[in-house]
Amino acid sequence: MRLKIAVLAGDGIGPEVTREATNILRAVAELGGHDFSFVEGLIGGVAITASGTPLPTATLDAALESDAVLLGAVGDNKFNSLTPDKRPEAGLLQIRQALGGFANLRPSVAYSALSASSPLRPEVTKDVDILFVRELLGGLYFGSPRWWNKETNEAINTMRYTRDEVVRVARVAFELASKRRKKVTSVDKANVLEVSQLWRATVAEVAKDYPEVTLEHQLVDSMAMHIMNIPRNFDVVLTENLFGDILSDEAGVITGSLGMLPSATIGGAVNLYEPVHGSAPDIAGTGKANPLGAILTAAMVLRHSAGLEQDARAVEQAVQKVLDAGYRSADIARGGENVQLVSTQEMGKRVHQALTESIDRRQAMHAV
Ligand code: NAD
Repeated sequence: MRLKIAVLAGDGIGPEVTREATNILRAVAELGGHDFSFVEGLIGGVAITASGTPLPTATLDAALESDAVLLGAVGDNKFNSLTPDKRPEAGLLQIRQALGGFANLRPSVAYSALSASSPLRPEVTKDVDILFVRELLGGLYFGSPRWWNKETNEAINTMRYTRDEVVRVARVAFELASKRRKKVTSVDKANVLEVSQLWRATVAEVAKDYPEVTLEHQLVDSMAMHIMNIPRNFDVVLTENLFGDILSDEAGVITGSLGMLPSATIGGAVNLYEPVHGSAPDIAGTGKANPLGAILTAAMVLRHSAGLEQDARAVEQAVQKVLDAGYRSADIARGGENVQLVSTQEMGKRVHQALTESIDRRQAMHAV
């Protein structure tokens, strides 16, 4: 398997967690005899410092010439006085748009070892494994007209979707559900919004091509409640841009820390992979950053860009094993017995070790 990965580590803890994620990808390549190559590029504050722009052309070209882009995080307080279009975060918005991914995948998985880190009771989070499929290029965030008239004190944003935009993201959700627990929950506000009525009718139409997958519809307001009450009931949750933004953040609570959450954006020219967290300037350089969100993001690279499902699962199981053994970064050290606080690098090493052992074991079994 050949894969060219553009690594854009970015700012703050971005380089710290990305280093651990790429180490894991290198290990998978080495153990499985795959040809993974890595090309580095600047984005965000480090790019502004080096070249005056948050997304230099060289970085964008490298990204577009790759099979996958692995991004750390952007953001640096020293650029806070710049206008939004010149700040590090502008680089992220620009690269997302240039790569054109329309389906944002955000898993929300409860690790039993971390049940004390979530504010939800362990019996509520037990066995939760939700995959959000959020439409990323349409809806309120992009619809026009949009304006704010400060003289009349009136503002407008437009929620707009076309049938084709719904079909393509719904297909992603059904394809993924067919490889999981075979259930799609489509979230809308069809009792009030015409856009949601189009959404619901279109999703129901797409569902006919996937008879093995069960489709249910939920209104977004009651869904916000169900996610906290009965998260175990959900497999793939399909929804539009704004609702997905809010609900996937809400579901992040299940895992217990922002540092645990991976994401992938697929469907465009090149898939973009990034942990959900930001550059966390408050802990940058202290060795306190949790690299597991970035490492789980690397697992998504293996699954969605390399087609290496078995290796993706091996990485996820290695993370589980390290957590079960009691290793914790500071953000997930709350509660639990026999926990051992470790640095970013140490956590990465532990996952690497667990992964190596599991792949070695798998290869030994195949050799017999
Ligand atoms: P943040 O995600 O960087 O941090 C929020 C809190 O979570 C902080 O207390 C931080 O220490 C903690 N945290 C985050 N990731 C962690 C990890 N891996 N391990 C341990 N703790 C972790 O959000 P913020 O503080 O609102 O933003 C900081 C900067 O990051 C800003 O410039 C913001 O614009 C940027 N940002 C970037 C992205 C991105 O690159 N995708 C996303 C969100 C925020």
